[in-house]
Amino acid sequence: MTIIGLEIHAQLKTQEKIFCGCPTNYRDMEANENICPICTGQPGSKPMALNKKALENVIKIALALQCELKRDIFIQRKHYFYPDLPSGYQRTSKPIGINGRLGNVRIREVHIEEDPGRYELRKGTVDYNRSGIPLIEIVTEPDIKTPEEARMFLEELNAILGYLDAGRDEPGSSRIDANLSIEGGTRVEVKNINSFKGVYTALMYEQVRQQNMLRRGAEVVRETRHFDEASGTTVGLRKKETEEDYRYFPDPDIPPVLITSELIEEVRKRIPELPRQKSDRFVSEYEIKADDAWILVSEIELANLFEFMSKSFKGREQAVASWIRGPLKKQLNYRNMTFKSSGLNKNDVVGLFGEFSTGSITDDGMEKALIEMLDKKASYVEVRLTLNLGKIQDSHELEEIVDEIIAKNPKPVEDYKNGNEKSLNFLVGQVVKETEGRADSKSVKEMIIKKIKR
Ligand SMILES: [Zn+2]
Repeated sequence: MTIIGLEIHAQLKTQEKIFCGCPTNYRDMEANENICPICTGQPGSKPMALNKKALENVIKIALALQCELKRDIFIQRKHYFYPDLPSGYQRTSKPIGINGRLGNVRIREVHIEEDPGRYELRKGTVDYNRSGIPLIEIVTEPDIKTPEEARMFLEELNAILGYLDAGRDEPGSSRIDANLSIEGGTRVEVKNINSFKGVYTALMYEQVRQQNMLRRGAEVVRETRHFDEASGTTVGLRKKETEEDYRYFPDPDIPPVLITSELIEEVRKRIPELPRQKSDRFVSEYEIKADDAWILVSEIELANLFEFMSKSFKGREQAVASWIRGPLKKQLNYRNMTFKSSGLNKNDVVGLFGEFSTGSITDDGMEKALIEMLDKKASYVEVRLTLNLGKIQDSHELEEIVDEIIAKNPKPVEDYKNGNEKSLNFLVGQVVKETEGRADSKSVKEMIIKKIKR
């Protein structure tokens, strides 16, 4: 049996850094623009009080993960030496939430800490824009049994951060350490993976590697490994005989912070309906399939789109759900987009789905329109005016094209007569192509079969 535990570091959504007033929009900035004596650890600089918004976000996440909250927060110094950490220590809190749960996975603890800078190994330079960005660290118990479960857990957690509006949604804003052991073996940790897909790949690789070692009778050593994204493999970094000694001690510059019951209650009120609850409600309220509902709630904007569309297509909610999960998600995933980042307008989507579901445009036409809306940021009205999408309704017009294609392709026609189904699909494809996707492939197929049999 495989045993997996995760440690997730996610950047919290705030305007300012954790212990200074520097802005957090470092992705738009030149290196070392968003810095001050505090976040570069200069001698004599004193941190400001813990960023209140960052703390509220941690409390919100801890509550959403059903954690028990600690009332006083102590900031500690964790010492280690690396060029991205100018002070020689990282400020990190004692646990703020403990004993939580998400699905079948227990949450051991959550706490807050500061992000270090970015060391450019090749250039030998450090960019401190990231130094002091507030992070939440979420540590699970080793309750996960497969790499696939780990991926699903991370996707749900990510959805929750989005629902709570508490995490930053830019790429690279989460980093994950994953540990894995095979029952009877030794725990190995893979550090600093920066995508969910990466976690899955790293764990799959590590699982097979350890299984093979145990099968050969070799010993899996306790170590920290690095995930190489390009090759999808993990490489040994250092053996871990004992726990590292970080010489933790309380930060004398930052007094403990007390969390009041009023603050907790105020934060609790701002927690919206979460993915699991929403998914259950979608199933009972709209009578859609549970696995479709689960896809819809994976992004709050997508869930909102579904409810928005449901108002216009009452009684056809399952068709709406299938369409979002199918053609829409396919085009979004292909572009690595969320519904939010796609910039699609909800009314445009209603217009497109409306014409598609009533048969005014074909599958191909709908897909073409969607691609145009995504790639050219065009509105549905613009797309409708510029592209010829209207389905061919006139059967005489379609018949002429079908006759033409049959006349032009005697070989596939002969092959189909001899029982080759692929040749039929080829002919259908040719007709659809000739009409630029305006012919409905089902009626074309029927028409060709009728004609060839004659
Ligand atoms: Zn600063």
